Amino acid sequence: MTTTTDTTVSTPKRAAPKSVLNESRQIERAALLIGMGARMQVLESETTLSYERLIRLYKEIAGKSPSKGQLPFSTDWFLTWQENVHSSLFLNIYEYLGKGMELDSVELLTKAYRLYNEQIEIAQVEPLLSFTRAWRLVKFVDAGMLTRTQCSDCKGQFVTELYENRGYVCGLCNPPARAGKSKTSGALMLH
Ligand SMILES: [Zn+2]
Repeated sequence: MTTTTDTTVSTPKRAAPKSVLNESRQIERAALLIGMGARMQVLESETTLSYERLIRLYKEIAGKSPSKGQLPFSTDWFLTWQENVHSSLFLNIYEYLGKGMELDSVELLTKAYRLYNEQIEIAQVEPLLSFTRAWRLVKFVDAGMLTRTQCSDCKGQFVTELYENRGYVCGLCNPPARAGKSKTSGALMLH
């Protein structure tokens, strides 16, 4: 006779008590994000702290009030030429780290963003991707609104819309006509 041991049927979990440990972890998270330059939208999404609490924390850590206004809810920014190269660099790092390590979403995001900044410093170009933009990019990818597509020319992975055609050529292999010589000199190259 076989006995089924169904481990999924267990006693209902008690509601998690509002622990001091969790509270301090949330504050730590928020502080880390504020230090990275995250805007309120990011803090509200990635922590369980109240809006009022976050505002107070923000003022305390950043020494100023958070900037008002919403970020544009559009994928266009990530698809324009140099912005796309920066976004692709960040997303490649993010995906790479995500495969090899057990990190929670905030740890992964902040680690990937630090590495992106290091690469930018080495390349001596201006960082175009803010932390909040990086966060938004990951959200767009998670929502299936953006993805990575391999360039048929250089074989690099670039941020694109979902159904990019097979012969996709990236903005580095095929820079837009408006990208003059002066512009390319300060541009980030991925290869
Ligand atoms: Zn290419």
